[in-house]
Amino acid sequence: MATNSGDPYPLVQVEHYERYVGAEVVERILEKARPLQDLRVAHVNSTYYGGGVAEMLSPLTLLMNSVGMATEWRAIQGPPDFFNITKKMHNALQGADIHLTSMKATIYEEVVFENAVRNRLDHDRVVIHDPQPLPIVRHSRKRGPWIWRCHVDLSNPEPSLWAYLKPFVEQYDATVLSIPEYARELSIPQVFFMPAIDPFSIKNREMNESEIEERLQHHRIPTDLPLVVQVSRFDRWKDPEGVVAAWRLARQETPCTLVLLGNMASDDPEGQKVYEQVMRHKDERLIVLSREDTSLVNALQRRAAVVVQKSLREGFGLTVAEAMWKGTPVIGGNVGGIRHQLEDGHNGFLVDSVDQCAQRIVQVLRNPKLRHQLGHHAHETVRRRFLLTRYLEQYLDLFNAFEARYHLRPLPHLTT
Ligand code: UDP
Repeated sequence: MATNSGDPYPLVQVEHYERYVGAEVVERILEKARPLQDLRVAHVNSTYYGGGVAEMLSPLTLLMNSVGMATEWRAIQGPPDFFNITKKMHNALQGADIHLTSMKATIYEEVVFENAVRNRLDHDRVVIHDPQPLPIVRHSRKRGPWIWRCHVDLSNPEPSLWAYLKPFVEQYDATVLSIPEYARELSIPQVFFMPAIDPFSIKNREMNESEIEERLQHHRIPTDLPLVVQVSRFDRWKDPEGVVAAWRLARQETPCTLVLLGNMASDDPEGQKVYEQVMRHKDERLIVLSREDTSLVNALQRRAAVVVQKSLREGFGLTVAEAMWKGTPVIGGNVGGIRHQLEDGHNGFLVDSVDQCAQRIVQVLRNPKLRHQLGHHAHETVRRRFLLTRYLEQYLDLFNAFEARYHLRPLPHLTT
């Protein structure tokens, strides 16, 4: 069902992006969507809430419908044991150790099989996100190409886990990774799309000063000193301890308040433990919040003098793109996808250590002109490269590129 302006609750249409990306890009996207009218598409991941994948699937699946593809979104379910195993897999794909016993592998495969039974995936294009539902491909009768979209940093996976997962991956017809550095040796085509943000969402749309002030006051966040902010799931890869250490060094040079805002995803069982660890640092100048308030994320990213995303691994940082869109300078860990988002010294800073992070915080806080310049370039970077229209267009190219059902033609090169 293509959506249109007569719908009772008008959805964002590609045309709404014209003011950011120009009429030519909008026309090109609509042109590419034409051969795909009424194509049945399914996206499958493991949570409807929390983390970047759910954040993106929410607007992306609507936008795909708006250009005429019948696009659905399913999240697989499972008991806590399943998500404990898949979180360990997620960590191990990013290089951590894992001891995958045959019992754990059986639980993983059984739960995925149950989800295959519940979800009849007979769509023309099926996109499976991340390792949690990966083996589902084994149990479904393909009616069209299946794509594995992996969002994690795959540059250095734990070898035994990768050896176990690779045969599942090779049953797909293509895989999408965020950046070329994540490419693996695989028998299937690999293509690279970086994620993107929705500028119309509650999280990213404009807020005026009084709306920002209201949100911050509501959550009792002091605004008398400049704010250093990190917004992240409570996850050790986001290095909250490193952020606290960097802020402690920085505040010896220049007064500032640190705000760590985090949430938990239903597919991430480690969040509570990390949250409790971080809470131990709390004081009147170190605010730790776990709140489900999207406008607060928006307000903090806008009001921050600097946003930090000091990740140790990061497939791609949506939080980085969100803050950049708001014209706020970002200091990011020099890892994974963040390296493709931030150009050191131009639209933000990349750091390799706590000390470096502290130095950059001080430099940015002390220099309003630098803040303004970095923020300006950051916004422009996101406008050109990280809005959802670019991501949608890459999916359209991919869907169009399958000929003879499963054979992938080379994709057009989109400048990103
Ligand atoms: N997020 C949020 N509230 C929080 C923490 C995070 O809404 O308290 C959102 C954040 O704004 C971003 C997403 O969760 O949209 C996280 O995506 P990212 O790619 O940065 O990291 P991931 O969690 O996927 O590793």
